[in-house]
Amino acid sequence: MKIAIIGGGLAGCALAYILRQLGEEPVAYEAGSALANGASGNSSGLYNPRFSALRGPESDFYAAAYCQALRSFRTLANIDWRPCGVLHLMDTEKKKIRLHRTVENWGWDSAHMRLVGADEASRIAGVDLRYDALYLPEGGSISPQKLCAAYLRNVEYHLNAPLEKLDDIEADIKILACGQAALKFVPRLPIIPVRGQITQVKATQISENVKCNICYEGYFMPAMDGVHTLGATFQPGLDHSRILKQDDPENIQKLADAIPGLEVGLEIVGQRASVRATSRNRFPIIGRVPGHDNVYVSVAHGSYGILSSLMGGHLLADMILDRSRCLPADVIAALSPQRFKEFAA
Ligand SMILES: Cc1cc2nc3c(=O)[nH]c(=O)nc-3n(C[C@H](O)[C@H](O)[C@H](O)COP(=O)(O)OP(=O)(O)OC[C@H]3O[C@@H](n4cnc5c(N)ncnc54)[C@H](O)[C@@H]3O)c2cc1C
Repeated sequence: MKIAIIGGGLAGCALAYILRQLGEEPVAYEAGSALANGASGNSSGLYNPRFSALRGPESDFYAAAYCQALRSFRTLANIDWRPCGVLHLMDTEKKKIRLHRTVENWGWDSAHMRLVGADEASRIAGVDLRYDALYLPEGGSISPQKLCAAYLRNVEYHLNAPLEKLDDIEADIKILACGQAALKFVPRLPIIPVRGQITQVKATQISENVKCNICYEGYFMPAMDGVHTLGATFQPGLDHSRILKQDDPENIQKLADAIPGLEVGLEIVGQRASVRATSRNRFPIIGRVPGHDNVYVSVAHGSYGILSSLMGGHLLADMILDRSRCLPADVIAALSPQRFKEFAA
């Protein structure tokens, strides 16, 4: 079977990797001159579930995705995997309620997810924290850019290959994994651009003590080669990747608000901006495109693409190869493009 994947970011590369493991020979087409030309091009990213207060299709999807990612990362070389733990600070009353309910309702073993008081959180983080937190001991970061390359190690792919129409390629199966650009092929897809910028800062004597990732309204990562990554701005409706001067102070201010003092002396040494694609309910869109027998989509991975792209790849591989599905029916329905009125019969 000839399988063509449009897009060489996390969604396209993860799917190609899984199909290759299952004995298929997919071919990926990337518009840019390198893989991970869009949102997946950051040198560091956190793998986190999207927390919800209740248990349901969304929480079940991210539980499976988290578990799947941890297993896959162990087998992939050169992806800068750092499972140093993630603390999600309860720095607002709303978040406190939501994260307490997450722990209560999701039912994860405490070895994987638990609540910690501010004192324990401070010991884990290596710096003083004022807030209680939800702690994922196995959470951490990887390089999305390197992950794309690792996924495609044994896969045929073409760079500088921007496809304009579905008819541009001959294949039995075509998969749209090109973020916001999927609109070019299926204009009815209800996806929205959300621009974002990360900031890189040189470590100070205080900040280099940080031992795990810390999430608040933004996030702060332990230093790697003397440099921290802070993320990320979130601008729905903006769809350009130019660097905005005001975004770096915004990222640093969010850090100062959550962990006062940690921002002192941080010198900005780099930044990267890009565009996420997201759906109306912030859940990815993964499945067959209604009205097209042989066209599938894996888009709208929002701010959680490291996890959702891999789980989405497993699901699409099952659909394409007509295998038993790796996710429950209600999760598959919640991910499907058909959930939107744009695709109603
Ligand atoms: C600032 C920022 C910080 C983020 N931080 C995190 C994080 O910490 N953790 C996390 O999980 N997620 C994070 N994300 C989100 C994550 O990066 C995305 O969810 C993920 O990269 C989406 O992958 P994708 O493959 O769907 O899209 P993309 O990475 O955008 O890939 C789409 C690819 O398709 C190519 N393409 C476009 N049009 C065509 C065409 N016509 N033909 C061929 N190729 C085409 C593009 O060049 C691009 O390479 C962040 C995003 C941003 C912007």
